[in-house]
This record gives sequence, structure tokens and C-alpha cells, in this order.
Amino acid sequence: MLARLRPRLPGHPARALHAISRNASSSSYTPYDPSTEPREEEAVDVCIVGGGPAGLSAAIRLKQLESETGNEVRVVLLEKGSEVGSHILSGAVIEPSALDALLPDWRSMEGHPLAQPVTSSSMRLLTQKYAIPIPHPPQMNNKGNFVASLSQVAAWLGGIAEELGVEVYPGFAGARLLLSDEADARDGQGREVKSVRGVVTHDAGLTRQRTKSARFEAGVAFRARATLLAEGAHGSLSKQAIAMYGLREGKEAQTYGIGLKEVWRVAPEKHVPGKVMHTIGWPLASDTYGGGWEYHMADSLVSVGLVVGLDYKNPYLEPYREFQRMKHHPSLRALLTGGERLAYGARALTEGGLQSLPRLDFPGGALVGCAAGVVNTAKIKGTHNAMRTGMLAAEAAFAALHPSAQFISTASPATFKVPLADGLKASETEAEKEIISMAPYAAAFKGSPPHNDLWAVRNVRPAFRTSLGLWGGVLYAGMDTILGGRVPWTFKHHSPAGTNPSTTSPDALSTRPTSDSSCKPIAYPPVALTGTNHSEAEAVHLRVMRGVKGAALGAADASKPDETAAEADTDTTETPARRCAHVRVNVGTYAGLLQRACPAGVYEYVADDGNKVVPGNNVFGKGKDAKSEGGEEEGWEGTKLVINSQNCIHCKLCDIKVPTQDITWTTPEGGGGPKYSACFSFVYTLSLSLLSSLLSPPRGRSIVYRLY
Ligand SMILES: Cc1cc2nc3c(=O)[nH]c(=O)nc-3n(C[C@H](O)[C@H](O)[C@H](O)COP(=O)(O)OP(=O)(O)OC[C@H]3O[C@@H](n4cnc5c(N)ncnc54)[C@H](O)[C@@H]3O)c2cc1C
Ligand code: SF4
Repeated sequence: MLARLRPRLPGHPARALHAISRNASSSSYTPYDPSTEPREEEAVDVCIVGGGPAGLSAAIRLKQLESETGNEVRVVLLEKGSEVGSHILSGAVIEPSALDALLPDWRSMEGHPLAQPVTSSSMRLLTQKYAIPIPHPPQMNNKGNFVASLSQVAAWLGGIAEELGVEVYPGFAGARLLLSDEADARDGQGREVKSVRGVVTHDAGLTRQRTKSARFEAGVAFRARATLLAEGAHGSLSKQAIAMYGLREGKEAQTYGIGLKEVWRVAPEKHVPGKVMHTIGWPLASDTYGGGWEYHMADSLVSVGLVVGLDYKNPYLEPYREFQRMKHHPSLRALLTGGERLAYGARALTEGGLQSLPRLDFPGGALVGCAAGVVNTAKIKGTHNAMRTGMLAAEAAFAALHPSAQFISTASPATFKVPLADGLKASETEAEKEIISMAPYAAAFKGSPPHNDLWAVRNVRPAFRTSLGLWGGVLYAGMDTILGGRVPWTFKHHSPAGTNPSTTSPDALSTRPTSDSSCKPIAYPPVALTGTNHSEAEAVHLRVMRGVKGAALGAADASKPDETAAEADTDTTETPARRCAHVRVNVGTYAGLLQRACPAGVYEYVADDGNKVVPGNNVFGKGKDAKSEGGEEEGWEGTKLVINSQNCIHCKLCDIKVPTQDITWTTPEGGGGPKYSACFSFVYTLSLSLLSSLLSPPRGRSIVYRLY
């Protein structure tokens, strides 16, 4: 066990917006270069990044195989949340098929969190006043499913993994991919590439100017024979791996939604344990994909939430505000009035399904769970598929590590074949001696339970992107669900080649609401209810640039073979010019979209006061003129971007949705971020709310609390 790898204690609650001075001393400014930093190394068999259902299932399955076959395997699991489960949004309906395969005795295990079976399941079409019952699509039949806190499920699985001998390190983010020194492998397109040799954890103690502070500690490099990226939707390392190895070539772009959730304690007489209700329609416009839900968990707790498809066009749309409006619908208002809001959170989810799955393996590792994107959009469920892919990857990794070991696949008995020792060829390249191939995992995925689950609904999400909008989608989905996807066609996601369907077209400005000509958002989210904390002193983890220098140590961008090193480098540096260009396009053309889209109020486009944000862009004080001080302008036409990164709840929306695609979400110091749990103590919530109200300017509170 590494003595240095101890989870850090949570620091401060979410900071007040706008409260931090970002002046930088520039005369002798030398930014920290992670690629040259000496660091401790640990050799492991499998390094798993992410302690969600996928990563934990992989870890558990690896250790089960160790004990079944007597072949040792060292498994390390890194989780950026301060606890396993603390970054996973609560309140989910869980299909237990994968859990049945992973832990067949789970129902008799003490303390398992799936205590509340679904007792009823229905669907409503909301108009502003009415909730009209509509037929329930067969995939949304929740018979045999459970309503539970996914955060608690992850925490429970984390405990099981640890008991089995997995080295679980909560509070440690996988910050960079560790690559081989030279190109030593080929990617799926046959190009020579460097292989992934593990992961480097986050460096601690960088200042906001990205220099080393007295408390600096370099992250640890975990050298692994296989690296499983299980970061959930739009993971930061997964994004790099997808780009570096061209994993999306020949596939469709991923499409996303943003899910906003609250957990309420409602009056006992209004609580219907196990009730599941989904809604479509109001408050979303018919050209905006999405829908809401009401899940009654145990102990009078109810999860209410709204998913908004991130391919929405209107830059004035505020997902958080739509969610607040939904809560005012007569049916929900009746439920929530007199109740108590305990927690709030938001997280992006993948919606693209089968068409948008990237290639699952890359040299040295694989994508599992929602890092690849396995949510069944018609069911609004991904946990079961995420767990299965984790198990499949674990079985493939174990079989490659111990070729002579024999075992029966529980992940996908029909597709996974254990290779026989006799049939194995000797290692052919240097790389193959150190890393294992995860190609058998990708091959076994085809025809496996998660593949079949996604295949059956592959046309549902794209059907909502036709000119018929919601109604076209509802009609097609109804027909398709009767056929179970058994049609000879597969719809595309209707995005022009090479574009991200989750960005907003400038034409969308025509949808601008006449009543709101300002750039400002109307409702400010209750970040205090997420339990978010980030150290005030740490470097801003939301960077205005397309890539991260040193993120893949020494990596060239294999997805852009014609790009020169200099061009690649300019894409990975935060410069005043880049920030200025960001403001010009995002404010000038997109009306400051991020300011409304971020569900934690992190982004603000404010009057340019001359203070510099980019590290090294000279020293400025209020009122000083940037140019006369030798710095470069970061603002555009008197407006600049402020990023209140302390409030970030790690939903990844900005990295996905920003029209200029120039916001890169990087891992903050491990342990920072939200602290989700359905048991999120009321006392803790209240104390955070009080602290936050003391620190925050009053602007947002008055609006948020007027709602309930
Ligand atoms: C609002 C919403 C509602 C949903 N409702 C349901 C539902 O009712 N039923 C259902 O089955 N599914 C639901 N889903 C989908 C479900 O949450 C996902 O399919 C599932 O959680 C995917 O599991 P995962 O392990 O792949 O990723 P995640 O659960 O996202 O877990 C990823 C983990 O990796 C960690 N991590 C990320 N990056 C790093 C890093 N670089 N270093 C270290 N750790 C890292 C994260 O902190 C997190 O703990 C919902 C999703 C959302 C957003
Ligand atoms: S800054 Fe980005 S990742 Fe953080 S909460 Fe806002 S949109 Fe989500």
C-alpha cells in the first residue's frame, strides 16, 4: 500500500461567485510542466479510472477470477470523489440483471441498497396545467427493478471491491494518460501510435497561476498492463484516448443530455414507496428532447428530475430554470409542497446509443461503461449496461494476463470465449510484453447483453431529431418498441459530418425570446445543496483551450496526423487571444450560452475590469490598462469571461456544449467536487447553505428560494 495515497479531507464548501482575485505575477512566470516532473511509480496489472458501476464491476470481477482460478492480479481503482459514490447522482431506477450476474447472492447480502422494489410505473404527457396518462412504452416497464440511490449502490460495491482486495483510492483523480516513450503499437486504423501504459494521478498543490506551492506533491504514475477508463459520460481521459486513437472513426458523434436532479423528503402521506413516473412535454418546447421523472425511494425520499437533450438549439434555454418550472406543474407542486429539498445535482449522460459507441479498445486499455456511452435512452437506464461492460472488460483482461486460466464468463456467456494457452502466439512486439490487448473485450461486446439492449432501441433517440420533433419521436418510438428494433434500418443522429450535435447552431439565435434581451441567466442553481468543495487555492481546472499540454505525456495527436507539433501545441495552451476569441464568438454569436447552460452558475460574462486571468499575462490591478502594462487583452468589446471553478459540480456540460469547443474540463485536485448521497445529511446541507448564504451575493438566492 502506498503511504502517500491517502484520501484528503474535504476542504471548504462551494465558494461565493466572483470572490477570488486571479492576478498573476508574470515577470518571472514559469508554468509548471507535468511532463518533466519526477514522480513515484507503481506497477499494477490493471488500473481502473473511475469508481462508478462500470469500474467497480470490473474491479470486483477481476478479484473474483483471482480467487476462482488462484492467479493473482493487482487491481488499483482511482476515484476522484472524496468517497466512492460521492460524484454519482442519486435516485435511479435500477435494472438488476447485471448485478444478478456479478453477485448472484446480492439479495441476501446484509446492507444492500436495493431495498425498494418498483411498485408502479407510469407515463404522463404534461401540458402546462394537466398531466395526461399515456401508454407506457414496453422498455419502460419497470417490473422487477428497484428504486435506489446510485451513489449508495456505488459506495456498497466499493466496499465489496475493497474486501476482495482491490486497492481503492478515493480522492485520487486520474489526471493524465501515461504513454510509452516511442510509438510502439498500431491503432485501429493501422497508424503507429504510442500505447497507454497507465495513468498519472493529479498533482496536488499547484497555485492558481499553475506554479508549485509549498504543499506541492507530484501525482503517482501507475504503470499498468491494462488501463480501463470507467469515468462515466465524457470522461476527461476517455476524451483524450478517443481523440488520440481515432476511436470514433467510422462511428457517429456522441449525443448527450444534461440530467438535473433533486432529492426531496416529502410528507409521508404523499409518499408512495416504489412509485415511478416519467413525463414528457411541458416545460420543454416540442423541438427540445427531454423528459422528467418522479421516483419514490425508501424513507419518504423522492428523486425528481429533468433531462434536457444537449442538442437543444435555443441559446437562451436554461436547463436549471426549466427544471424549476417543471416543479411548479400542479402535479409536482402538490407532491413537493411542505416537503424539504435535501440535495441537488446535475450530470451529463450519453444518449447516442449503439451508433455512437466508439471503438472500445485501444493500445493498452479500453473504455467501459458510460465512458463509451451505454445508456439505453428509451429506458433512461445505463447502470446495468455499464456493469456488464466492466465485467466483460475484466474477463478479457484476466484472460490475457493469465492465458492458461479457465473460467466461465458471467458477463456474457454467449460471446466471451476464454483463449486457450495452446492457441496463443508468443508476444510479437515489445509493447505486447508489457501491455495486454483488450481487443477480445471489444469483440465479445458484439452480441453481448449490453449490445443487444442498445441495438433494440437504436432508432428511438434519432427519431426525436426529425422535423417532427417530440411528436415524431413519440410516434416512431411507439412503433419501434412494438417491433423491438427488428427493422432493417438504423437512423443516424442527423448531425452534419464532423460536427458535434450537442453544440448550438448560430441560426438558433432566431429563437431568442423577445422578453429576455439580456445575456444573464434568470435562475441560479443551489450549488450549496450539492455539497461541492474545491480548494480556493488550487489551479482553475476549467481551461479555455482544446487540449491539455502534457495530458498524454509526450503524445502527438494521432487523430490529426497532418498537424504540426507547433499547431498541436497552440491548441493546448491557455492564451489571452484564445480567451478573447472565446468571448467574441460565445457572446457575440451565441448570446453567452454557457452562462445559462451550466447547472452550477460557473460561467459569467462580465464587464472587463482589466484584471487578468491567464497565468503569466502580466500583473494587473483594478482600473489599470492592460496594454499599457504590457499584457494582452483577454476580453472582447468590454466583456470578459469569469470562471467560478470552485462551484463546478463536474457535470461536463461545458466541455460538451460550448459552441467553440474550447473549454477543456480537467481534473481538479482529488477529493474536490460534489458530495452526492441520498443520505446527504440535512445538518450538513443546512450548514453549507448557511455558510454559502454568508459568502454569496444575494442575487441568486432570492430567485431560487422564491420557487419553494
Ligand atoms: C440524471 C441522470 C439520471 C440517470 N438515471 C438512471 C436510472 O434511473 N437508471 C439507470 O440505470 N441509469 C441512470 N442513469 C445513467 C447511469 O447513471 C449511468 O449509466 C451509470 O452511472 C454509468 O456508470 P459508469 O460507471 O460508467 O459511470 P459513472 O456512474 O458516471 O461513474 C464514473 C465514476 O468515475 C469517476 N471519475 C471520472 N473521471 C475520473 C478520473 N479522471 N479520475 C478518477 N475518477 C474519475 C467519477 O467521479 C465517478 O465516480 C442516469 C444518469 C443521469 C446523469
Ligand atoms: S463548469 Fe462545466 S462541468 Fe462544471 S458544473 Fe458547470 S457545466 Fe458542469
